[in-house]
Amino acid sequence: MSIRVALQERSGLKCELCVAVGALLVFVAPPDAGGDAGKCVQICSSREGQLAGTESVNANPEHLEGKASGQKIVIFTKFVKK
Ligand SMILES: [Zn+2]
Repeated sequence: MSIRVALQERSGLKCELCVAVGALLVFVAPPDAGGDAGKCVQICSSREGQLAGTESVNANPEHLEGKASGQKIVIFTKFVKK
């Protein structure tokens, strides 16, 4: 199964960051580029710039931007204990 097909099945054909539907891209989480679907997320084009670091993730209140080990990460507030 290709990474793209695996991601499509996992995500239900939605962006895994904001559940947008439409044109979706495969974002490979560094540093394991090209690994497997477990290291990738399916995203819409509006999230692509955010993950590439050219836009602020904070535009979406459900996403918190952070850094871990020098890498940019996105924390989903729904998974954060309050
Ligand atoms: Zn999205």
